[in-house]
Amino acid sequence: MKSDPESKFLSQPLIKRLQTMLGRKPLNKNGAKLSAAPDAKKNTTDQTSIPVLDRLEAMLGKTENTKPESKVAAVSPQKKLPDHDQPKNSEEKPQQVDVTPVAEKPPVEVVAKTEEKPQQRSATENSKTKPPPDTVNIEDERSLAMGGAAIQFTGQVLTAEGGALKVPEESRSLCALFDNGLWLVSASHRRSPLVTSVALMAKRQGYVIDAPRYVTPNIISQAYLYADRRMATSQVDENAVRRKIVHLLERAVDTGANDIHIEAVNNRTRIEFRVDGALRVWETWTQREGEQVLSAIYSHSIGQSGATANWQEPQAAMLTADARGKDVIALPKGVISVRCQWVPLSNEGRYLDMRLQYDSAHLFGENFIMADVDSLGFSQEQLKVVQSLRSLPGGIRIFSGPVNQGKTTTLRVCLNRRMAETNMQVNCLMIEDPPEGGVIGARQIGVSASVKDEQREKTFVEIMRCALRLDPDIVMLGEIRDLQTAKFAFRLGLTGRQVYTTTHVYAALATPKRMRDIGIEPYIIYDHHLIRGMICQRLLRTVCSHCRVPVADATKELGPQYIDLLRRVRAGLAIMDARRNKAHAGKPHMEHLTEPDLSNVYVANPNGCTHCYKGRSGRTICAEVIETDAHLMELLQDNRMEEAEQYWLSPVGLNGITMLWHGLEKVRNGDVSPDDAEFELGPFAREREIMEVEQRLGLKA
Ligand SMILES: [Zn+2]
Repeated sequence: MKSDPESKFLSQPLIKRLQTMLGRKPLNKNGAKLSAAPDAKKNTTDQTSIPVLDRLEAMLGKTENTKPESKVAAVSPQKKLPDHDQPKNSEEKPQQVDVTPVAEKPPVEVVAKTEEKPQQRSATENSKTKPPPDTVNIEDERSLAMGGAAIQFTGQVLTAEGGALKVPEESRSLCALFDNGLWLVSASHRRSPLVTSVALMAKRQGYVIDAPRYVTPNIISQAYLYADRRMATSQVDENAVRRKIVHLLERAVDTGANDIHIEAVNNRTRIEFRVDGALRVWETWTQREGEQVLSAIYSHSIGQSGATANWQEPQAAMLTADARGKDVIALPKGVISVRCQWVPLSNEGRYLDMRLQYDSAHLFGENFIMADVDSLGFSQEQLKVVQSLRSLPGGIRIFSGPVNQGKTTTLRVCLNRRMAETNMQVNCLMIEDPPEGGVIGARQIGVSASVKDEQREKTFVEIMRCALRLDPDIVMLGEIRDLQTAKFAFRLGLTGRQVYTTTHVYAALATPKRMRDIGIEPYIIYDHHLIRGMICQRLLRTVCSHCRVPVADATKELGPQYIDLLRRVRAGLAIMDARRNKAHAGKPHMEHLTEPDLSNVYVANPNGCTHCYKGRSGRTICAEVIETDAHLMELLQDNRMEEAEQYWLSPVGLNGITMLWHGLEKVRNGDVSPDDAEFELGPFAREREIMEVEQRLGLKA
């Protein structure tokens, strides 16, 4: 590498001529000295004479022998600096002009060194004389290439447009910061306050910044070119991710899922749908794919609980069908909104539950206005009570049950029937947060889910206040959850409005107690004109009629675990029948047991068939329906719970049934597998009861 390929383009006469023209004495001296070592002379011009050469070459370009493109290649790295860099550069290192010739090493050696890193040489030499504090390594493509090195661009450019750091546009020509700490600074602007402020901002926001690498503006512009390309690719990715989410939602709706669970942890993402109350694994992705989807859902949702997606904390938001814009996630037909809740998992994982909120047409079919509660699975006696509750004037009907167990569906079907029965000649207001709609002719007063909790609370209170002045006949109040909403409901009920609402209790008879816990005065609660009805329900999965197994064959076909189940079904039914037998009302029921008919009891086949999923298909209601009367309320007010229950269930009292009994009836009819019913409702009979039944009826063959 003795001969510098560049030097041949800078002929000695040319340099002399140029120097003469510029009247630069020192260069003359250099030239003279360097003439002895032609290879070195170009190098001496590296740091200082380049601007001069630039200008002169520009002036003399046409008279030069060398082709213009050769000149470009020939000049040193700094030749490529834009014009505005050069004067500053030469000002910063004026002494180098004189210093370089004083090199003690043989020129040849200098040349060899220069070829690798020209700027290092001058730095070394400077230090030998008078070390200037602002001498820097300047890297450019060429020197890097010759040294066999290159600056590798990887990761994100934080300072790019749309990047994580919001920096002024003009600073992008001076510096670039990568998320891996790579910090590129235009050599000639390293003192610029713009550069300093970008570095400060990055540090403040907690980004890693390595020691600066001083480069040419060209390398910086290449960094931003890289960022642009990367952004374009990620845009494509983003579209793909969005399509993936839309597909996921569509599949969930096709399957009839209420919830989508996405769990990204331990290098994989598991997608599960909750269909008919049970989880089904739908697909598995990589963890990265899952994280992309989780982030994309967050950025496309509204009403986010946090300002940014901080995955270390739980986050909540919503996807809505009425969102507008080119980047929105289109919800499948029939879905009004999707409530999303993210939580961090241990081991750096993330978890998202998406609850699909369907519109009424999807839930009940296009003719849902005609739907009645009898399609939901109530018993005949219960249906009569529900119909009676609809027609009673004023007062409150309270629907309860666990989340996602169909209580709002029942409530809507009731309201729709009421609206039809009154020929829509009533003013029905629906106050819900979030609004879910679904009642023809009702006025939906929305409490937007997209605003912050406090604001929403305020809006809700405001709406309740004005609802009283809106002359309603029927008010549907989403949920009684605190004293304020409870007072509102009772006030409406007191003033003769029909109120339909929900609350959280585990059994219908526990409803008044719940109102008491919330803070309503007992003299109001236990007035049966105020609380008209209490309905508590949950849903049981129905057994697939194509592959169900008769309970008599279950032990043989599916395993010995069905022996005890069968004993409990038998005892439960025997006791229920005895208690519901009007002929023996008021007498000890154990003395009037009869053998129940189990010929129509079927268990679900866990292997399933083409008509079902693991032996189950769809769900049916299992409920407690109580129309209150003065006696029941009196017993409840006196906290005589056992008597209250007896009165409610007695065939000569309210003739009601518990959820367990309702479930047992469905088991007897072969609609529900006994194991599913027990899973939701608890055991049909206790061991003590089973023993007594077996003692009285004999062991079942
Ligand atoms: Zn089946």
